[in-house]
Amino acid sequence: MGFAIGVWTAPRPPERRVCIAAAACAALPDIDALWSSGLPEASPFAHRALTHSLTFAVVATILITTLLFRHNRARLGLTLGLALLSHSCVDALTTYSLGIAFLAPFSVQRFRFPWTPLGRPDEMIVSQLIVESLLVLVPALVLAWLGWRIRNRSAVPTANS
Ligand SMILES: [Zn+2]
Repeated sequence: MGFAIGVWTAPRPPERRVCIAAAACAALPDIDALWSSGLPEASPFAHRALTHSLTFAVVATILITTLLFRHNRARLGLTLGLALLSHSCVDALTTYSLGIAFLAPFSVQRFRFPWTPLGRPDEMIVSQLIVESLLVLVPALVLAWLGWRIRNRSAVPTANS
């Protein structure tokens, strides 16, 4: 999903480096899996807490954009920030876990969207992967492919330009 966001929101034509950075940003919130095992869900360092918050998205976006890019930082920061937030928003569409601590570290309250199509209908991880592939992965791949073709094609100079 992050790659697709990069393709559609980065300056035209989308650079592979920007799209890969956006894809990495979209995966970054789950870095909490490295240390969250065994923590109580009320901890700000628990899974889907601080690293899935709006605060983390803003701070990480500023740091990553500053480290990776020298030009066009506002536009590229928007791309990376959207990619980061997309992760938490997709997680908020799931039925499993307590939800997302969007307001951490200021609040430990967890949220999820009223519509939660992603989950484990029969408590099996295989069915969860199938549902998430059909509702998230395949549409993201199609959008990335379409965006890459459309936004690169329209950036190719014509004989008249
Ligand atoms: Zn997550």
